[in-house]
Amino acid sequence: MGHPMFQYDPTVGDAIFNYCRERLMINPVPLDYGGTLDNPEHALEGMITSDGLDSETVLDFFRDVLAPSVVSIDSPGFLAFIPNAPTKNALLFDMLIACSGLNGTSWLESMGAVVAENQALEFLAARAGLPDGAGGCFVSGGSIGNLSALTVGRDVGRSRRPNTAPHELRFAISADAHSSIGSALHVLGIEPLLIETDDHRLTVANLKDALAQDPHPETVIGIVATAGTTNAGIVDDLEGLGSYARENDLWFHVDGAYGAAAMFSQSHGELMRGLRHADSFIVDPHKWLFAPLDCAALVYRNPRLARAVHTQQAGYLDVLHEGDDEHFDWNPSDFAIHLSRRARGLPFWFSLVTQGVSNYESAVQAAIDLAQRSATMIEQSDFLELVRPAGLSVVLFRRKGWSPAQYNEWSHQLLRDQVAFVTPTKWEGETVARFAFLHPDTTDEMVRAILNSMAN
Ligand SMILES: *Cc1c(COP(=O)(O)O)cnc(C)c1O
Repeated sequence: MGHPMFQYDPTVGDAIFNYCRERLMINPVPLDYGGTLDNPEHALEGMITSDGLDSETVLDFFRDVLAPSVVSIDSPGFLAFIPNAPTKNALLFDMLIACSGLNGTSWLESMGAVVAENQALEFLAARAGLPDGAGGCFVSGGSIGNLSALTVGRDVGRSRRPNTAPHELRFAISADAHSSIGSALHVLGIEPLLIETDDHRLTVANLKDALAQDPHPETVIGIVATAGTTNAGIVDDLEGLGSYARENDLWFHVDGAYGAAAMFSQSHGELMRGLRHADSFIVDPHKWLFAPLDCAALVYRNPRLARAVHTQQAGYLDVLHEGDDEHFDWNPSDFAIHLSRRARGLPFWFSLVTQGVSNYESAVQAAIDLAQRSATMIEQSDFLELVRPAGLSVVLFRRKGWSPAQYNEWSHQLLRDQVAFVTPTKWEGETVARFAFLHPDTTDEMVRAILNSMAN
């Protein structure tokens, strides 16, 4: 009969499938509340035992104690940070993958999964305007995507500047670049050339000014642009920066973890046109492309450059790398800093293929349109003020006269009341309120209720 741990227990199976079915059928998903667990250090005491606990008891404990103590990121009321709103099809397919024994590392093991992931990547690359042959892999998040891409950019930059000491090479970035860019440069031992911007949007004029004033512009090997800053939804001048990079042999990386999904927007897609110049870019399906965590798409214009940098060499892996540089097997492990990986691009692929592109377009557009309408509501209120025009689906606004403590108390109360999860942010040193819209089922009524809650 085999080892008892590997037997299928229909009672547990039914309980889990029922749990998943019920969770999937909740629509809209309630917010829940992250702070409900009394005595968290004691809640799990004694649970790890020699003989194991009864599965149903533990599942009940998860349902009744642990799960309600998590804010549901897929609720339409979740408007903090960057939400995550996976389609039901994407969630269902994630379950299927969990049960499928898939290691998405190599072509040899999982060609059938990799070709489907690659179809999704090629679709994104084509949407971005990159030429045929562009590709990469899905990684856990934008942070590892940025790090992996900038590693390739650094190595290419080193080979273009053989006479410059490696530690002197720099990437040009704006002060509004995501924190993960700073972390990546730190890991890589690369200094930033930090560029001043006029209004938090990096332009080619800003870049040229910075290079003109710098004593060693020749040490700059690449430019990092942001397609939609996380805090304010601002899209850098991708077209200008990208053209400049191409003309000057600089690596052009675009961090579109959140905002590059706007390439599916009819009203704002044009802002993404410059993506076509990218040597590498990222976009997180687990943000605005409606896939479950954790899933970021990492795309290179010339994947061969990435493969040369990221392929891990080890005796037991030699069988994976038998082709030559023209004809090689597509191992996702060769394009980023990772080896073993789940086929995390497949939930996105399944959802895209089954729902169709036009559903993606309308769902992305819905968040942008709601941001615009919310900005109008804010402008019409006498106790609120727009900090700046909505950027993609992000809105920054202030409650006149409020201190940081008042924003915090209001934010906690909204969550306690299960109205919404909205957290304050810092803008130019000031604490302000911020909406990050993403779920197409967030309604005007919800926004109105949130704004009204700030009246006193
Ligand atoms: C979210 C975000 C990241 C980091 O992505 P993770 O998936 O959270 O690692 C990087 N850049 C931008 C612009 C982001 O919005």
